[in-house]
Amino acid sequence: MNNINSAFLETKANNRLNALRLLFANESLSRTEIASFLGISTAAVTSIVNEFLESGLIIQCEESVDSPNKKAGRKQSPLKINYNWKYIVCFDIHPASVNIAITNLHGKLIVEEPFTFSSNWNKKEFCSELAKECIKILWNHSIHLNQILGAGVSVIGPVNHLEGIALHPYRVFEGPVPFKELLENELPFPITVESNVCAFLQSELLYRTNIENAQNILMLKWGPGVGSATAINGHIYKGYNYQSSEIGHNHFAKGKGAKCICGRNGCLETLISEAAIIDHIKELMHSENGKDILEFSKTVGEPCSANLESYLNHPNQELREYVSKCSFDLAEVTNNAILILAPDKLVLFGDIFEHDSIVSLFTEQLVEINSTLPEQFCVKSTFRKKKKYIGSTAIAVENFLLS
Ligand SMILES: [Zn+2]
Repeated sequence: MNNINSAFLETKANNRLNALRLLFANESLSRTEIASFLGISTAAVTSIVNEFLESGLIIQCEESVDSPNKKAGRKQSPLKINYNWKYIVCFDIHPASVNIAITNLHGKLIVEEPFTFSSNWNKKEFCSELAKECIKILWNHSIHLNQILGAGVSVIGPVNHLEGIALHPYRVFEGPVPFKELLENELPFPITVESNVCAFLQSELLYRTNIENAQNILMLKWGPGVGSATAINGHIYKGYNYQSSEIGHNHFAKGKGAKCICGRNGCLETLISEAAIIDHIKELMHSENGKDILEFSKTVGEPCSANLESYLNHPNQELREYVSKCSFDLAEVTNNAILILAPDKLVLFGDIFEHDSIVSLFTEQLVEINSTLPEQFCVKSTFRKKKKYIGSTAIAVENFLLS
């Protein structure tokens, strides 16, 4: 009897979480639609959603719409998530910059401020100052602590997400940083931590703006480095020592190759990262064949992250061939990953993939290498403008509402 009860409660709990997931992935749904998706009765859906309607997490749309599943004339009011039910604090930690943002549950930005930090601070001091700045921002914008669901930290490098430890935040700190523990000592709400690429993948899994119902996703980030992450059956996959798929750290150089930030040598990232491309353009513009690029630099400035787009579109033949070669190398390594992981979708994001010309070039090369790929296999992430916080919002929603 107890077993039957616990199985019933577990099923109900799963249905509750799945109903919420459906509503996060769809703008609004009727009770009948939720029932049909979950394979349960409309009465069971009503029982589930009533709890959320009472708490205010779900709201009923004002306008009722015709339901395609109902007989003509019957109307029903769809349900949707009340995205302003609580707010999320987002910490984005990179070697070059640290960003604090407050968003609603849909990643809509409420406020965003860069955090200035000293390289002399130790890990504890860094987290303590970050927490103080966060409290100041909340205070200045009259956001009460009880309006905060929790905070998401997205950080470079592999992360033990279960304990909230950044294992190797390259160029931020040496060795592991227990962000969850350090920040929870300073802030009165829960903290969850994830690698920046995995957190970004979580935002695609949660809001599903471009991946339809795909459950197995390979996400590829190009720029500034080359990162990747994988979702299997709708969940982020990690293997030994919390590693996710690392397309950029495949050995690709001929011979030993240059030292990579990951500690290995000859990784693909050392050849095609934003920094490597910028260095190559600088070299080329001072060569015999690069005089037009040198001339061009007098108008747009020395090659750097901010003006890289202009250089990537420059017609110099040698530069075009070089960019094409970088893209082809990445397509080749990505195709190997596709053959091993067999994802339903490949999601592209990152500064270099923001240029449509590069996305087209890469996609064409990938299809040239592997003509069996289905149509619409490669999609571009729609979250470019939210890249500094959408991942943190998503991991906080996933951990504090949907798990
Ligand atoms: Zn590497």
